[in-house]
Amino acid sequence: MSHETTMKLTEGQRTGSKEQFLVTAGGNIKCLRCTASSTRTKQQCGKPALKTSTTQKCQIHSGRPHSPETLRRISEANTIHGEATKAAKAQFRKDAVLIRQLEDAVHVLKMGEGPRMRGRKPNGYRGVYSQQDVVRMIRERAEQRK
Ligand SMILES: [Zn+2]
Repeated sequence: MSHETTMKLTEGQRTGSKEQFLVTAGGNIKCLRCTASSTRTKQQCGKPALKTSTTQKCQIHSGRPHSPETLRRISEANTIHGEATKAAKAQFRKDAVLIRQLEDAVHVLKMGEGPRMRGRKPNGYRGVYSQQDVVRMIRERAEQRK
């Protein structure tokens, strides 16, 4: 790693674009340069990018591509209870819609009393205001089961 103490900005840093190549060893070696930049100093990383990197990054800036097996292993190691997975969140949203519609159906059919649930309706919610809506809701649920 080179430690250049000059405060002069390169052309790429002035204009905001990134240097694509790194010339080192007295101009004898020209290679791809890491395109990551520091959040603190805003300066571009000075290391050469890994040849195997698809995003042109060095090993410090996670340029090493992961195989699907590695990604699965990382995901498995970081999964604690599975309640925040995409599938679990989608199921939670579907259940929220069902609970709202069932509450509306109970209100329409005069089967319950008391205050209604407050707040924003969940995404995908279709209002249940009449007995025809209750029938429609039941038919839609039955078709989803098939
Ligand atoms: Zn880097």
